[in-house]
Amino acid sequence: MKKLSIFLVFLIIVITLCSCKKNETVDEDYTNNTTDNQVQTTYQKDDVTALATVSNWKYIYAIDAPVVTDTEVKWNLLLVNREYYLPDNYIDTVNLVNVCGTQERLDSRAAIYYEEMFNAAAIEGIYLTPCSGYRSYDLQKSNFENRISYNESLGYSKIEATVEASKVILPPGTSEHNAGLAMDIINCLDSFENTQAFKWLYENAQDFGFILRYPKDKQDITKIVYEPWHWRFVGVEAAQEMKKSGQCLEEYLGKVK
Ligand SMILES: [Zn+2]
Repeated sequence: MKKLSIFLVFLIIVITLCSCKKNETVDEDYTNNTTDNQVQTTYQKDDVTALATVSNWKYIYAIDAPVVTDTEVKWNLLLVNREYYLPDNYIDTVNLVNVCGTQERLDSRAAIYYEEMFNAAAIEGIYLTPCSGYRSYDLQKSNFENRISYNESLGYSKIEATVEASKVILPPGTSEHNAGLAMDIINCLDSFENTQAFKWLYENAQDFGFILRYPKDKQDITKIVYEPWHWRFVGVEAAQEMKKSGQCLEEYLGKVK
């Protein structure tokens, strides 16, 4: 009887851990989450089998199999996240340009607005220095695959290693930086929240078409940790509407999973 009770408690813990897996968030910019997860995770056989058959996605990594995003929508409302990934040739259709005389690049259609925003803030003595804009699909791919190899060296199977890698790095094509539509401003530190630059952005960015993409209170929807530095171009109209309604992009587009 005692053994049965212990077994049941163990079973409940395993089930709880598995059900929590879905709500985990990732540090989209992979700045401070470098913890090596060496805890053995239990993967349910059915989940893995379902993923392998349902998804054409090379990197099977989540309970919900991701799909290629709809690129027929307005370019500024393109949804790129863990569930909707970019076709790997998407960027070939985009004109990338350097922003504010730096090495950082954005889609030229968004860069115009960034420059306007930069100039408006500069008049008030605030410099929205571009820190990280476009990142290539190939760079994201090599970072991700290196992490998978590393996890495999710890003894994980290929699928387990992929799941674990996706907890700290977004797979290629699932980052907005791969689309040239997002800019990390000044730095990638939580303390950015306490700067005048953040305050200015929070009050004014929507008038230049940018949104705080991963707000603190939407982590369960975006599945990305709060990132005060990451600003996404969606266009002035959409940004103002989202600011007013308090919706994040997934909610605005009706694509909450
Ligand atoms: Zn970012």
